[in-house]
Amino acid sequence: MDILKMKHRMISCKEVLANLSSYVDEEGSAELRQVLEEHISWCRRCRVVFDTTGRMMKIMRDAEPFDVPLGVSARLYSRLETVLSGE
Ligand SMILES: [Zn+2]
Repeated sequence: MDILKMKHRMISCKEVLANLSSYVDEEGSAELRQVLEEHISWCRRCRVVFDTTGRMMKIMRDAEPFDVPLGVSARLYSRLETVLSGE
């Protein structure tokens, strides 16, 4: 995972977004989580995205053992990317 090599520089919002699902699913390493949390601590926009998306993903995951259709997930991400790049 490239993001770990970039530990000592600011990661971009896109990189944060790309790793969002790993973070929410608690699949990422402690190091990855730290990098993301650091970014979120100063980037309000990503914090909002993490908060809303993370909560939604958890709800979906905890509700029923069903798979989120890939198309929905892809649309969600492209939507988020649009939001993030529209500064
Ligand atoms: Zn950000």
